Amino acid sequence: MSAPGLHAEPGPDAEALFALARRTRGFMPPPEGEALWRAAVGLSADVPGPIVEIGAYCGASTLYLGAAARQLGRPLLSVDHHRGSEELQPGWPDHDPEVVDPRTGRIDTLPHWRRTIEEAGLERVVIGVVGDSATVASVVGGPVAMVLVDGGHGTAPAWADWRAWGPKVAPGGLLAIHDVFPDPAEGGRPPFEIYLAATSSGLFEPLLASGSLRVLVRIRP
Ligand code: SAH
Ligand code: MG
Repeated sequence: MSAPGLHAEPGPDAEALFALARRTRGFMPPPEGEALWRAAVGLSADVPGPIVEIGAYCGASTLYLGAAARQLGRPLLSVDHHRGSEELQPGWPDHDPEVVDPRTGRIDTLPHWRRTIEEAGLERVVIGVVGDSATVASVVGGPVAMVLVDGGHGTAPAWADWRAWGPKVAPGGLLAIHDVFPDPAEGGRPPFEIYLAATSSGLFEPLLASGSLRVLVRIRP
């Protein structure tokens, strides 16, 4: 069998998770989720560490990365404080009242995320980490094989994610950034700005692009 990589074809197990992802509330267009899967399954076995996602919401992206993690036999650390980004709060276009906890009036996507992972049968693959991204990074000791940055899109959270997680990506590992819009008319600046920071750092080089997803590979220590 040829080595997996950017031309990998999903088997029935992955296809079933992709189908569940398409029914899951969230912000990961299927072609971009499948590109994420394809990049992740191409990770070489000698790149150490888990796969990490920042910004799980209700678990759509978790399913694409979880499908890859299960195939590779690596854990997936799915990080989110589950209180919603600034741009998901009431009054913003992407706000969804169905993820508000009626008891407190605050966003709580954790029960939604947990149900998704349960339905997917991924509880032994995915480790849910409930907390602030940079704080979680500060207690993750080792290198990571891949990070998806899809958390808060404001200047402070996006830069905090890049600063906290970028250095942890092992050589040969992957940094994926979602909602990268080179044209300001299409979306906010910070994800694009951290994408530029990553490419101009000399540490990362572009591997693939799909919609607003960019995947970079770490080319040097
Ligand atoms: N990847 C998801 C969408 C993520 S939306 C999908 O496929 O649908 C962005 C998420 O980032 C929200 O759930 C929000 O709670 C989380 N988030 C924002 N800032 C964060 C931070 N500093 N630490 C942890 N999670 C954060
Ligand atoms: Mg996104």
